[in-house]
Amino acid sequence: EFAKTKSIAEQRQYLPIFSVRDELLQVVRENQVVVVVGETGSGKTTQLTQYLHEDGLSTYGMIGCTQPRRVAAMSVAKRVSEEMYCELGDKVGYAIRFEDVTGPNTIIKYMTDGVLLRETLREADLDQYSAVIMDEAHERSLNTDVLFGILKQVVARRRDFKLIVTSATLNAQKFSDFFGSVPIFHIPGRTFPVQIMYSKTPCEDYVDAAVKQAMVIHMTCGPGDILIFLTGQDEIETACYALTERMQQLEASSKNAAAPLAILPIYSQLPSDLQAKIFQKAEEGVRKCVVATNIAETSLTVDGIFYVIDSGYGKFKVYNPRMGMDSLQVFPCSQAAANQRSGRAGRTGPGTCYRLYTETAYLNELLPNPVPEIQRTNLGNVVLLLKSLNVENLLDFDFMDPPPQDNILNSMYQLWVLGALDNVGNLSACGRKMVEFPLDPPLAKMLLMGDELQCLNEVLTIVSMLSVPSVFFRPKDRAEESDAAREKFFVPESDHLTLLNVYKQWKANQYRGDWCNDHFLQVKGLRKAREVRSQLLDILKAQKIPLSSCGSDWDIIRKAICSAYFHNAARLKGVGDYVNCRTGMPCHLHASSALYGLGYTPEYIVYHELVLTTKEYMQCVTAVEPQWLAEMGPMFFSIKDSNTSRLEQRRKQNEEKTAMEQEME
Ligand code: ADP
Ligand code: MG
Repeated sequence: EFAKTKSIAEQRQYLPIFSVRDELLQVVRENQVVVVVGETGSGKTTQLTQYLHEDGLSTYGMIGCTQPRRVAAMSVAKRVSEEMYCELGDKVGYAIRFEDVTGPNTIIKYMTDGVLLRETLREADLDQYSAVIMDEAHERSLNTDVLFGILKQVVARRRDFKLIVTSATLNAQKFSDFFGSVPIFHIPGRTFPVQIMYSKTPCEDYVDAAVKQAMVIHMTCGPGDILIFLTGQDEIETACYALTERMQQLEASSKNAAAPLAILPIYSQLPSDLQAKIFQKAEEGVRKCVVATNIAETSLTVDGIFYVIDSGYGKFKVYNPRMGMDSLQVFPCSQAAANQRSGRAGRTGPGTCYRLYTETAYLNELLPNPVPEIQRTNLGNVVLLLKSLNVENLLDFDFMDPPPQDNILNSMYQLWVLGALDNVGNLSACGRKMVEFPLDPPLAKMLLMGDELQCLNEVLTIVSMLSVPSVFFRPKDRAEESDAAREKFFVPESDHLTLLNVYKQWKANQYRGDWCNDHFLQVKGLRKAREVRSQLLDILKAQKIPLSSCGSDWDIIRKAICSAYFHNAARLKGVGDYVNCRTGMPCHLHASSALYGLGYTPEYIVYHELVLTTKEYMQCVTAVEPQWLAEMGPMFFSIKDSNTSRLEQRRKQNEEKTAMEQEME
């Protein structure tokens, strides 16, 4: 209602931050660093940049605003471009990895914290910027934490540089202390009380419980939208499907008295046109039910929510030292996060939050605050970046909360295995080249090996395909059909080569969209891969690395793949079951792998990553020759019969078998 009747300018003036605009700007003028604290929805992300611009800061540089999430950077930039009546990418733009929507006129730039971090590689003093807002600092993402240390140096070197750190109520004092007791500015809240309802008993299936609760609210409670917090895409899709079904059943039944319900999913991989829907006001008489990941905790503000349903869980990236890798895992969220979630119900009027866990669980099982990402994830990228910024000893870097030493050492070990660090821990020539690519170290290494083994053209495609969400489309109601379509692309010994095959065929079909639809491929994903490919190609050109090709001799590509995934090499244990060569951890072949239908399972393989579902499944697998592992890392692999390649033997056997079969026919 509000959005429809009030002009954009009037909406801006209605935000809580507007009432303190002048005092806030005064504090910023008088201090180089300010911490700004305010409730979600008070206007920090959309207004601060514009205020600094209106106060003249954009006359001598850009105003940058970092976000831990890509979705937030894109969505907010779009909103602010509307508020400033300009095209997105003109005065207001955004940059995320592999996507730069800014131009020569850009004065307000939203970006992921990772993008700004990489920019400090090119320009340590960030001369292009007059001010940076580190938004959502309370999230303590890995890149934000590193930026804290780097921006502290920029502030010390550039007197004309302004830094604003924003936080949703948490941690403000800690941030202030880090920069030497800088002022903390509070935006007065305009929040209503939220009644908290706990489950009486622990719930077994929170997706199911959330759906039931939403239906009860919809059938029995007064007007107001619903926001459900689940952990990821799968759960969200399941819940949306179940809600749709329930609503259809109601409609079909004669007793139907329910108002319509608009069911709106939101998660990071959702296409942006669908994401935009959560901000639109539902039609008169329609209740909105937004089903979200923790993206809606503080990053995106949805107005009009009166009811929150909180599963109490979230997906977090954690480094598992035993496995030697990161994985996304479902964990209970923190008390602070639970409070942010319930707060979403009190923005427009008094609300209710249904926690699908007991009060005892809240008090005893949830941590008070989230664990900073820097303390729980792989630091490979960070180590590489800091080393190239000449931070020799990482333990000396000014971290707000230093990562555990074990974690640093483990990441350094992996970089050494990849050849990015030399024996004394300094950046090697190879490592120096790797830093140039906005890729995880293994993928950067794969590119360099592609060059060395003269198959860069092909490896470049594989790396690009690995940098976008899966291109295979698998609608639940057409699973068999889509699986059959996928199998047609299989290159039996490698999922990586299968990706290459998909791309090559798409290219051979003039990059057509209808061709993708016919083959159950996501055209958006493929287009994105093509774009990523061209950007990586630019970096290769700038580094004067020529584009070599191995033509149709694809075996050599597997060698390049092998070199990148040393740490993810695994040995056959039983049919479809492997163990990691280094750690002995079990890992399993997934039914969707091209290797699954090979008819035998190769002795040695490497994999892109592990996904934990019911088991540890390997994602994207390639069969490798044992002697490659022995050649490239004799210190890690003791391989018994490295002279005879079993894969080779088996392939011959297979060929003979087929020949015999053909003769018999
Ligand atoms: P904060 O950063 O303090 O949480 P924001 O600046 O993100 O607050 O949001 C301020 C207001 O702008 C909110 O009421 C929010 O609903 C609105 N808003 C933000 N992004 C969009 C968008 N993409 N479309 C419509 N409204 C938006
Ligand atoms: Mg915000």
